[in-house]
Amino acid sequence: MSARPAGDDPWRVNADLHCHSTASDGTLAPAELVRRAKAHGVDLFALTDHDELAGLAEAQATAREVGLAFLAGVEVSVSWADETIHIVGLGIDPQHPDLVAGLAALRGGRSGRAREMGEQLARAGIVGAYDGALALAGNPALVSRTHFARFLVERGVCTDVYDVFSRFLIEGKPGFVPHRWARLSAAVGWIRGAGGTAVLAHPGRYALDDVRRWALFSEFREAGGEAIEVVTGSHTRDEYGIYARHARDFGFQASRGSDFHDPVESRMDLGRLPPLPDSVEPVWRRWT
Ligand code: AMP
Ligand code: MN
Ligand code: MN
Ligand code: MN
Repeated sequence: MSARPAGDDPWRVNADLHCHSTASDGTLAPAELVRRAKAHGVDLFALTDHDELAGLAEAQATAREVGLAFLAGVEVSVSWADETIHIVGLGIDPQHPDLVAGLAALRGGRSGRAREMGEQLARAGIVGAYDGALALAGNPALVSRTHFARFLVERGVCTDVYDVFSRFLIEGKPGFVPHRWARLSAAVGWIRGAGGTAVLAHPGRYALDDVRRWALFSEFREAGGEAIEVVTGSHTRDEYGIYARHARDFGFQASRGSDFHDPVESRMDLGRLPPLPDSVEPVWRRWT
């Protein structure tokens, strides 16, 4: 069955509602990202930095300048069961005090974690990783595994960041430090409190069996989550169909976003994903 009504084509809107700038672990400035999105034919664009809103003003101003429809966004790090999951907030008010305070607290945990990651890597024979990652991030509150990954590539320890994430920085490998992020209900609450829509990011990336996936989707929906990413740079083509079916089963709308970080490193560039399947309802109907 198609969710697609006649005479109305939001399915063909080139929406890219997930990407990262230098305000988190991307390598392009917010203005450069907006210009790249425009050049790639994106019709509706959201910047969604990890736990950070600092790039939104520049992105918004540039989007106005080049005539690109823009949504203020964020990608919130959450600990759920023993998994780290990501919740994208779209159409948020970047000034909302609870959101601003919640994200500031989350970022506060990053530098201690990064120091521990550096110590672990040193014990594995790789020295200077914390300083190297910090130099790439430019701010101790923003240091992420991505910056460590880039350092390990620069150092010649790994061939690319995908090689890093198979040998380091993941559970059971050197450089992995377990961390408590936000609670799922808090993250969704901040997003909704700031007038935004909560979207479960790249559900195919989490290690969940059927029972745990059902539990996560149910809890997310109960907390006020409204959509899941179906077509994302983090899913395989097979997963587009699988998560479209889950979206229908759970009554979620669907989102689409490249999760672009860098022109060389990222597998998917801005605006280049295939359209959403006809069988799901685009989350962006409310904005177009
Ligand atoms: P952190 O928030 O510090 O745990 O870093 C998470 C970031 O690392 C993600 O947003 C991605 O940019 C990157 N990342 C995590 N896992 C992978 C992976 N398997 N392949 C490539 N990048 C990854
Ligand atoms: Mn990232
Ligand atoms: Mn993510
Ligand atoms: Mn992301």
